[in-house]
Amino acid sequence: MNAVSTLEQVQRAMVESGFFPQKKYSQNFLVDEDAVKSLIDSSALKPSDHVLEIGGGTGIVTHAIAQTGAHVTCIELHDTLARHLRERFVGQKNVEIIEGDALRVDLKKIPYTKVVASPPYAISDDIMYALFENGFSHASLIWQIEFAEKILSPPGSSEYHPLSVISQYFYDGKIIRKITPKSFYPIPNQFSALLSLTKRKNVLPITRYRVFVSWLRTLFRFKNKTIGNAIQQLRKNPVKGINVSACEKAAHEMKLSSEKVFLLEPEEFVELFHAIE
Ligand code: SAH
Repeated sequence: MNAVSTLEQVQRAMVESGFFPQKKYSQNFLVDEDAVKSLIDSSALKPSDHVLEIGGGTGIVTHAIAQTGAHVTCIELHDTLARHLRERFVGQKNVEIIEGDALRVDLKKIPYTKVVASPPYAISDDIMYALFENGFSHASLIWQIEFAEKILSPPGSSEYHPLSVISQYFYDGKIIRKITPKSFYPIPNQFSALLSLTKRKNVLPITRYRVFVSWLRTLFRFKNKTIGNAIQQLRKNPVKGINVSACEKAAHEMKLSSEKVFLLEPEEFVELFHAIE
């Protein structure tokens, strides 16, 4: 199927359900079968997989996932779209639609192992923190290209971010391909990219993950300072569950106090955090 007929199909589905795309819900729908194919191929789905999809929209990705035989749980916030999805997939046992905000749904209750989606860009950061907390064996996600690059930014780069640390500690990531604005309706301003994340083997879990994330995010507010100075900032910006003196001592013992925050490797952040414990 070419992009034009897919665009027509998507538009027809919208007219039929009396729906107009809204910016505030980051509603840019995929209309490019080639991009959908790349998304599905990169996730190597099997019938035994349980896939989480965030932001089902008109169901173009949901349908492609279901075609592989995998089970898909799709979360869609918008009531009109959720109704459209329920009607479209009625009677399909391997498709489950949850109407709600993906940031409020308890992801732990969904037994998924993979994530495949073209999710809403407005919740990029928050949804990645939530997905990393809950874990997955593989994710194929279409994000705005700058966001995908941020996830993959190495230590020392100006884009290095707490999400880069967490992502690179747990996952091997790569950009599979760029996706042009024309692959979406309405056409967005920026390019997107297909990001693939695969769980690395033998990675130790992070104890007290939520405390780790708050601590890491606070240190990154001072990313151009030394670890020693950033730790001092924790006195004015306390993180619940973190003892600043223990943190200072651990950084000193690991000889990290005079290292700049943005130069630390993901493993060093985790080691330092575990040394405080
Ligand atoms: N994957 C679909 C839709 C992409 S647009 C496609 O390519 O066609 C993003 C979708 O996410 C929209 O359908 C929008 O309504 C939905 N959405 C926005 N915020 C959401 C949230 N917090 N939780 C779940 N879905 C959300």
